[in-house]
Amino acid sequence: MQPDKIVLKTLVTEQQIKERIKELGQQITQDYQGKDLLIIGVLKGAWIYMADLIREIDVNCTVDFLAASSYGASFETSGVVTITRDISTDVRGKDIILVEDIVDSGFTLNHLKNLMYERGANSVRISTLLSKPSRRRVEIPVEYVGFEIPDAFVIGYGLDYIEKYRHLKDVCVVNTDMLND
Ligand code: 5GP
Repeated sequence: MQPDKIVLKTLVTEQQIKERIKELGQQITQDYQGKDLLIIGVLKGAWIYMADLIREIDVNCTVDFLAASSYGASFETSGVVTITRDISTDVRGKDIILVEDIVDSGFTLNHLKNLMYERGANSVRISTLLSKPSRRRVEIPVEYVGFEIPDAFVIGYGLDYIEKYRHLKDVCVVNTDMLND
């Protein structure tokens, strides 16, 4: 389906994202002065956000990626988080920021954060481009949030619907009526 059919409305524009990432980058730079930071991106949704975010961060950092799944091809989380691709970095003693596209129920990041501490990380914080606080089912602190959004399924800027629409420049709300046609 063409993007113009599936998009109900634009929620966050390319320009708003750019400006907010600059602010978050400055905040992270301040908070991690003098530290070696390990930034872990959660694939696939976070890769575009992470690519833009790290270029606004001015401290020594290394990157790694993992992939986690709790959704399958549906709108609702299953609550069971599976790591489908793991990092190759030894996290012992590391200061980590987990980078996500969106925090919804919180299950994914809660699982990943606990996992990093179990593996011996020194500190684990979270940065997400988007957060839906009204959907939270586990309380999890998120230190660096781009935008809090209402309860709607969104696509674009890395976020997909059945693997499509990640390339859209804005974050857009899906017209779920079109999907039922
Ligand atoms: P959580 O474990 O917090 O419920 O889910 C986080 C993951 O669910 C995100 O990384 C993302 O893959 C997916 N997700 C949650 N809400 C949305 C949404 O509105 N749009 C898309 N494309 N994915 C979402």
